[in-house]
Amino acid sequence: MKPVISLENVSKFYTSAANVVVGLDSIHLSFQRGEFVAITGESGSGKSTLSNVLCGILGYESGEMLFEGRPTSHYDSSDWERYRRDHISYISQDYGILPGATVMTNVVSALRLAGVQKSAAKARARQVLEELELWKLRNRRASRLSSGQKQRLSIARALAKPAPVLIADEPTGNLDPENSAKVIELLAQAAKSRLVLLVTHEFDEVKDHATRHIRLQDGVVVVDTALRQANVPEELPQVPAKKDPEMSLFVTGLQLRSRPVWTMLMTMLFALTAFAVVAFMGSFIVALDDTNTRIYDSSAFINGDPCRIVVSRTDLKPMTQEDYAAIVSLKYVTKLERNGYVTDAQYAYRDGVDYTTIREDKIFAIGDNTYNKVVISYKVHTNAPFLQLVPVLPEGQSFLKEGRLPESFYEVVAHVDSGYQVGDTVSVFFTNYRYWSKNAKLQFNYTVVGVTEQGSGLYFADDVGRFFQHVAHTHGNGQYYQFLPVYDLSYMREQFADIPDFAMPEDFSYELQDGECFVHSSIAISQSNKFDLSTHSLTIKVPNVNLKREGIDPMPQKNQVALSTPKEWTLNYNDPYTNEEITRTIGLGSSHDTELFTRLIFVNQQTFDDLCWNEGSEQVSLTIEHYAYTQQVLDALAEAGYLGISPYRLGAVEVDPDLAEHREQTMSICLLALVAVVVLQIVVLRALFGVQLAPYRLLRNIGLVRRSAKRSILWQFVLFTVLGQGIAGVALCACVQTNIEKVTQMLPYLPPLTMTALSVVHIAASMTAAFWTIRALQKQVYPVAGRFVDLQMDEEVTA
Ligand code: ADP
Ligand code: MG
Repeated sequence: MKPVISLENVSKFYTSAANVVVGLDSIHLSFQRGEFVAITGESGSGKSTLSNVLCGILGYESGEMLFEGRPTSHYDSSDWERYRRDHISYISQDYGILPGATVMTNVVSALRLAGVQKSAAKARARQVLEELELWKLRNRRASRLSSGQKQRLSIARALAKPAPVLIADEPTGNLDPENSAKVIELLAQAAKSRLVLLVTHEFDEVKDHATRHIRLQDGVVVVDTALRQANVPEELPQVPAKKDPEMSLFVTGLQLRSRPVWTMLMTMLFALTAFAVVAFMGSFIVALDDTNTRIYDSSAFINGDPCRIVVSRTDLKPMTQEDYAAIVSLKYVTKLERNGYVTDAQYAYRDGVDYTTIREDKIFAIGDNTYNKVVISYKVHTNAPFLQLVPVLPEGQSFLKEGRLPESFYEVVAHVDSGYQVGDTVSVFFTNYRYWSKNAKLQFNYTVVGVTEQGSGLYFADDVGRFFQHVAHTHGNGQYYQFLPVYDLSYMREQFADIPDFAMPEDFSYELQDGECFVHSSIAISQSNKFDLSTHSLTIKVPNVNLKREGIDPMPQKNQVALSTPKEWTLNYNDPYTNEEITRTIGLGSSHDTELFTRLIFVNQQTFDDLCWNEGSEQVSLTIEHYAYTQQVLDALAEAGYLGISPYRLGAVEVDPDLAEHREQTMSICLLALVAVVVLQIVVLRALFGVQLAPYRLLRNIGLVRRSAKRSILWQFVLFTVLGQGIAGVALCACVQTNIEKVTQMLPYLPPLTMTALSVVHIAASMTAAFWTIRALQKQVYPVAGRFVDLQMDEEVTA
C-alpha cells in the first residue's frame, strides 16, 4: 500500500545569529493510513519539530517529504497553506480552540475553513459532537469547558475534518489519567481511517493502542518498532467540500461574534476618531477665515451683520422683478430686502432693550416764579436692531402667518415672539447714523397689520425703505432732507404735539416750461427737532433733456419723475429761527458724514411717490443662512452677473491682536490634535488588532489560508470604519438636534466635499492601521515556510 507521508533524509535546523540547533537530522520515515504512531522522546529531542514539519507548519532544509507519493520540497507558502487546509488535522497540547466561540462554532468553523458548505458542516459537526458526547454542550462557550472537555472538543474538530492525516502534539499533557485514557481511545478510533501521529512523553499511556512506536533523540530516530498490526484503513467520512473557498467574510464574522466586547470597543473607537477628525479639522477650517478676529469698521456700512450681503447690478441700474427673483433664488439666500441702503438705519421698539425712557424732574424759572416739570426723554441704544423691510422670499415660502402685508408707511408686520398681534399699536424710534446727527431720532406709531414667524422683530413697509433711501441734499451748504409721507393731519399733530400750527401739505401740480418740467407742492419742514410746519412751496425741476432721452412724455406721470436723474428741487421756506425767506436748490445724493443733521419734508403720498421713486432700487440687501456661505453666495452672484459685497468682510480691516493670537493658537492646537488623533488611531488600532492575531494562529493551524486571513482583517477595518463614521454622523446629527453650538456653528463650514475629505482622512488612517496589522499577520502568523524560519510554537496559546 502507498504511504501517505514519507520523509527521505529530511533535516531541519533552527538557525540564529549565534548558533545552529539541529531539530531533525536526516530522518527517513514512512507512514500509512491505518497506523496509530506513538512518537516519544526526551524534551528537546525533536518531537514537535517532526510533527510541525509533517503538518506543514514548519519547512525543512534538506531531504524530501512526499505526500501521497508527490514531493513537497518545491512548495511555496500558499502550497503549504493548502496542504494544511486539505490534508491535515492538528491537535495541540493547548487545545487550540477558539475560546470565545461556542463548541458548535469551533467545529463548524474548522469544516467551513476546509471548504465545507454551511449545512453539510453543521450536519457533520453534529455527528462528531454526538459521538464525542459534546452535543449537549454545543452552545457553551469553549472557554467555559473543563480541560477534558476542551481537549475532546479539539479532537472532535480534528475528527470532523475528512483529512487523511491527524497529528496530535502532546494532547494529554494537561489532562488527568482518566481523561488522557479517553483521548487516547478516541485517537485510536480515528486511526481506523486515518494516519494518526501522537506525540507523547508518556509511552505507557499509548502502548495498549499504538500500532508503532518511534523514539527520537537529538533529532534522530533511535527506535522505530511495530507494536501490532496496523488497521486496514476504512473509507474516510465523505464531506463535500469546495476547492479554494473564500473564507474572509466568514472569519470576519467569527472574529467579531466571538469577541462582542472587543467589537463594541473597536466600533466606539472608530466612531470617536471619526468624530474627533471632524471636530478638530472643522474647528481648523472655521478658523481659516480671520474676519472675526478683526475690529469691525462701520464707516462704510453701519450694519455689519455677517449674514448680510449687499448686491447691485453691474450696470448699477435699478433692479427689476426678474433681478429680485434671480437673486433670491440663489442657494443659501433666505431673504432679500429691496432697499439695500436702509438696513443701516436702526429701529427701537422695546423699552429697556432698544431704548430707555428717562424721566427727569426739572425746575423751571419764569420771572420770579419757579415750578417743577417732569421731562420725559428717550435714549435709543446703539445696539438697537437694524431696520428690516418686508422681504422678498425664495419661491414657495410664505412670509405671513396672519393678517396682511403693510400698505403704507405707518403699517408694520410683527414677529410672533414680539408679543404684538394684528391691530396693536407699536411705538417705534428710528435712528440713522449715516444721515442724521448722533442724537437725532424719530418716533412714529405703527399699526400691526400682520404677524410672521420669520426672523424676529418688526418688518416695515417699502415706503419706510424709500424714506431712508432717498436723501436729498442741498448744493453747497450740506443740508439734508428726507421726505416723509403724511396722511392724517391729526395723527401728525399727535406725533409732534408741541407744534402749534401744522398744515397738511396738499397741493401738488406739474408745470412744463421751456422744455423743463416743474412739480409744485406745498410742504412742511422740520428742522432737526424744531418744527416749522407752516406750508411752503416745493418746486421740482426736471431737466427736459433727460425726459427726452428716456423717451418719456414730457409731462411726468406718477412715478416718472423718478426715472430722470439728476433731479433738482427748489425749496422755498422761512427759516424758523430768523424768519428769513430761504430758497434752496437740492439734489439727490448721499454722504457718509453723519454729523450733518437732517430735515424732514412732510409731503402727501402722491408727492412722496413722485419724489421717492419706487421703480426698483439699485442696491438690495440679502440675508444668507450662515456667514460660512458668504463666499459661495458671492461667487454665485458674480456668476449670475451681479456685484455683491459682504459688509462684514469689507469692514474687517484692523486686526485685533488678542483675537488673532487666539485664532493662531486654535489653529495650531487643532492641527496638532488632528495629527495626534490620526497617529493615535493608527497606533492604538494596530495594538488592539495585535491582540486579534492569536486567534489567527489557531485558525491558521486548522486551515485558514493567508489570503483569507489578510482579507478578513481588511474587512474588519472597513466594517469598523463604516460603522464608526455612521455613528459619528448620527452623533453630529444629535448635536445639531440638541443645538450644541460648537457643532451647529461648525457644520456650515463643512460642505459635502470637505466632509468627504475628512472622511477620507479617517479612512486613510484606518487603512494605514489595517495594512500595518496585515503586515504583522504576515510576519507572525504566516511567515514564508522554508529555511531559517523560527516559529515560536510556544506562543500558540489560546489567549
Ligand atoms: P520536543 O518537542 O521534543 O520537546 P522540539 O522539537 O520542540 O523538541 O525541539 C527540538 C530542538 O529544536 C530543541 O533543541 C529545541 O531547543 C530546538 N528548537 C525548537 N524550536 C526552536 C525554535 N523556534 N528556535 C530555535 N530552536 C528551536
Ligand atoms: Mg514539544
